Amino acid sequence: MTSKHIFVTGGVTSSLGKGIIAASLAKLLQARGLNVTIQKFDPYINVDPGTLNPYEHGECYVTDDGAETDLDLGHYERFLSTATSQANNVTTGRIYETVINNEREGKYLGKTVQVVPHITDEIKRRMLLLSQEGFDIVITEIGGTVGDIESLPFIEAVRQLQWELPEEDCLVIHLTLIPYLKAAKELKTKPTQHSVRQLSQEGVHPDIIVCRTEEALSDDIRKKIALFCNVKTEAVIEAVDASTIYDVPLLMMEERLDLICLKKLNITNYHEPELEKWGRFLDKLKAPKRKITIGLIGKYVELQDAYKSILEAFIHAGAMNECKVQVVNIHSEYITQENVAEKLDGLHGLLVAPGFGNRGTEGKIIAVQYARENGLPFFGICLGMQMAVIEFARNILGLKEAHSTEMNPDTCDAVIDLMEEQKKITSKGGTMRLGAYPCEITPGSLAHSIYGTTQISERHRHRWEFNNYYLEQFENAGLITSGKNCDTGLVEIVELANHPFFIGVQYHPELKSTVENPHPLFVHFVKAAKEFAEKNEVVENGVLQSEMM
Ligand code: GLN
Repeated sequence: MTSKHIFVTGGVTSSLGKGIIAASLAKLLQARGLNVTIQKFDPYINVDPGTLNPYEHGECYVTDDGAETDLDLGHYERFLSTATSQANNVTTGRIYETVINNEREGKYLGKTVQVVPHITDEIKRRMLLLSQEGFDIVITEIGGTVGDIESLPFIEAVRQLQWELPEEDCLVIHLTLIPYLKAAKELKTKPTQHSVRQLSQEGVHPDIIVCRTEEALSDDIRKKIALFCNVKTEAVIEAVDASTIYDVPLLMMEERLDLICLKKLNITNYHEPELEKWGRFLDKLKAPKRKITIGLIGKYVELQDAYKSILEAFIHAGAMNECKVQVVNIHSEYITQENVAEKLDGLHGLLVAPGFGNRGTEGKIIAVQYARENGLPFFGICLGMQMAVIEFARNILGLKEAHSTEMNPDTCDAVIDLMEEQKKITSKGGTMRLGAYPCEITPGSLAHSIYGTTQISERHRHRWEFNNYYLEQFENAGLITSGKNCDTGLVEIVELANHPFFIGVQYHPELKSTVENPHPLFVHFVKAAKEFAEKNEVVENGVLQSEMM
């Protein structure tokens, strides 16, 4: 069986939310019983986003098979609850790398290697790759905006596939912006007309126009867009601003986006959408019983996208706990022993984020110490876990100079050290310990009670690790290493007893949290923060919670 293909292009401006629209459509099709996947083609020349600064492109999302990918893949997984892989994210760099390697191996038999057909053939090969894996539908999102020089070969590949695939196997959705001009009190269709014209000039005619808009589209506007853009009126879809991205599948269902796609693709074996679990999540999300505040300590605090998966995992876990999680960004560079109590005042939990490099680490260590000593729920992820280990070494083991060799290569107590296999690596791209590895959890530990199992698999992205030379010292002083990789002995989880909630993990649980399966660590962290908030309220009010009931 071959798959049917839906291509999603974007026009007028970037950041319109192609990833969310693609994920929402995929969710609806999945809810109707179809087997769907999504892939993203990014026009930049980096081979993958792993080497990109989060300021440039947001978080780097890691798949089970260890691919460093665009953050949109995170949305795909969070919406669909199915794992993506290396094949789901392709960049111009990856395409050229393959073509140039082929050329060096003499595979083109003396031909002049050109953008058309060699680059476009490689793009098409990769666009069709997932068809062999039994999906009913493959949705392909083309990054960038139509008209960009970089995206031309991708649009050209779509043009060719529109001809090569049977007509009922291929569909193009163009996402565009309908701006509202306050002065004129009017929605304007002209940018969309231009954008569709640009796409047509490149040889691709869209079947469906999805219109991002602040205001509802009137019938007249829909008719006008249909007329100028040469699509049926029913194929003009309104994508009005939503209060949460998780509303978008339902909004798209109201607009019948899924049904229009199914009709064009001539798919008839579907049922009514099964979205009960999704609906229950939304109900809880929208009716929180209380609010808690979590401090997120990192260095990219001005940038929401840098911690995308963490923020989304808090939304999932918050709904599960029926509370609104307000995440406040705290810049670790400005935390000192003198001001830490003031900086962390009012928080119900502290998350120390993943990261790289020395900047802001001393502030993070001070914040961890504060959380440990004051019973403030603490959750450390990757670098955050390493900070917790350093803090414990300095303040409990008395190893005052303890550090990670990432921050101080000459430290006399390298409690966090470069992994052995990393020592010979010089190249930066795709060379960290990446992807899913198994971890065995100690029975009876906090981690065990959270996961409810002793065998887990989580995703990684790091070069440094807990130095097992100090293992006994740590354990004897009360730091529990409750999760380890069986093959290497690498410490994956540390926790403290005699603390309401103190846990650090070397892996990235946020990458596996989805709407329908919120991650248990986030769920329990939020629960602990909620309990912390309740307890403090009791103290503040001077009455027991039970007396109030
Ligand atoms: N810089 C640390 C390491 O490479 C932590 C990485 C991370 O937080 N993702 O081990």
